[in-house]
Amino acid sequence: MKSLLRRCKNCGWYTLSKASCPKCGGEVEVPHPPKFSPEDKYQRYRILQKALLGTLPVKEETRRKILEEFAAVVEGSG
Ligand SMILES: [Zn+2]
Repeated sequence: MKSLLRRCKNCGWYTLSKASCPKCGGEVEVPHPPKFSPEDKYQRYRILQKALLGTLPVKEETRRKILEEFAAVVEGSG
């Protein structure tokens, strides 16, 4: 899920417009990439690694959900 907010590269105006800045017509960009705390990020990868190796002590159903969630994250970040 990406932010709807855009920021003008030219004047710094924040807008919901994806096309151009309503103020000066300049090019707009996503102001900042999605942030995850390093702690959360590494925890996610540790869990994923265990899930992939099959050493995570969870039900098969839970393991599958973790893998599905990760796949969704990977697709969303592209
Ligand atoms: Zn502008």
